[in-house]
Amino acid sequence: MTPLKNKIIAYVKQRNPDQNEFLQAVEEVVTSVSRVLDRHPEYDDLKILERMIEPERVISFRVCWQDDKGEVQINRGYRVQMNSAIGPYKGGLRFHPSVNVSILKFLAFEQIFKNALTSLPMGGGKGGADFDPKGKSDAEIMRFCYAFMQELYRHIGDFTDVPAGDIGVGSREIGYLFGMYKKLKNEFTGIITGKGEHWGGSVIRPEATGYGLIYFACHMLEANGESLAGKKCLVSGAGNVAQFALEKIIEMGGIPISVSDSSGYLVDKDGIDTEKLDFIKKIKNKKRGRIEEYVDQYPDAEYHETDYNSNPLWNIKADCAFPCATQNEIKEKDAQNLVANGIQLLAEGANMPCTSEAIGVLQESKVLYAPGKCANAGGVAVSGLEMTQNRMGVYWNRDDVDEKLKHIMKNIHEVCLKAAEDYGVPGNYLEGANIFAFLKVAEAMKAQGMV
Ligand code: GLU
Repeated sequence: MTPLKNKIIAYVKQRNPDQNEFLQAVEEVVTSVSRVLDRHPEYDDLKILERMIEPERVISFRVCWQDDKGEVQINRGYRVQMNSAIGPYKGGLRFHPSVNVSILKFLAFEQIFKNALTSLPMGGGKGGADFDPKGKSDAEIMRFCYAFMQELYRHIGDFTDVPAGDIGVGSREIGYLFGMYKKLKNEFTGIITGKGEHWGGSVIRPEATGYGLIYFACHMLEANGESLAGKKCLVSGAGNVAQFALEKIIEMGGIPISVSDSSGYLVDKDGIDTEKLDFIKKIKNKKRGRIEEYVDQYPDAEYHETDYNSNPLWNIKADCAFPCATQNEIKEKDAQNLVANGIQLLAEGANMPCTSEAIGVLQESKVLYAPGKCANAGGVAVSGLEMTQNRMGVYWNRDDVDEKLKHIMKNIHEVCLKAAEDYGVPGNYLEGANIFAFLKVAEAMKAQGMV
């Protein structure tokens, strides 16, 4: 380990004991940052990295609500306002029982870099609650969202902090959250993104993360003289990111062969086509059911329960892998299995789905690897476009937004490769993304002085 890496890791550990996910996210950038600091010692003198890993503000609050039985329930809500050097805090809200300060700090930290890559003026933030939406009635979800916003509303604003969705927060939740904000403040402003198309939302926002991921992967393949056509693709997850990644893979001539949810994974070796994808969408979006139901309709497919320690989904032979479920879903053994089966490309639809050991295996084996901060930035990029439309009071149609999304993903691909090349790590998307984003945010922090 370099001296800087040692110093930063020791510093993060000492100041944030037990925040393993946050430590992992910091570790992922520190090697790249040391390359920058060698050329720009002024950023070291100004302690830019040390400042970046200290959130500007962490808000933690009680969320008290009543379930359908009339019982009082208490959850913990948070907003981590990580960095506002290049724009208002921006990042999603996650409702999941695993949510804690470490997870939100890792996500908010990643978001600083991701947002900087989009070329739009957005800082980094993340929030959520340790609330489990699974099995809750619609009325319970509404009461929870209302209770959550009754506190969050005082900390956000269209030029201050603009949340959005993440795991467990989709269009339904965004509607309830926005509705309560509007009622409390008596104003209709773009304080949250992912709104419905007819009430301030942007078209393509639901599709953007999945579409952007596949646009990015196509650029990676193209840069290596390849295309997605005819390639077998493993996809994990079955939520918004996975569904639209599947849709775009099919459109690009690729063959998606899997999806997964928290109970298990499904493999359809014949390929998931548009009709089958519509069925998945029906199960997940309309019925909020389990993907296991797919096998009743398509009995040639296989469904298996997931073993947490080594996920057999990643031991299926394919050309490309798109993890779109959650953090650390690909461990070292899974990466070894992917490599042994000849995987060519892995692009992250989820945030930090690969452990650091897994990334090591992929990079040593020269697999084309793109981290979430560049590959899944399409979601927050279209959120940025939603903010622009809200501020201007205009509506952009599907072609307008899709064109802009394509352009943004192409640009991210270019700037990552260029930064990697400039800093002596050609073709390394992880390093390129970290270097480009760090330089941009560091320059803004330097310009703004010691705030
Ligand atoms: N939660 C998404 C992400 O991880 C989107 C954030 C947003 O649109 O603000 O980037």
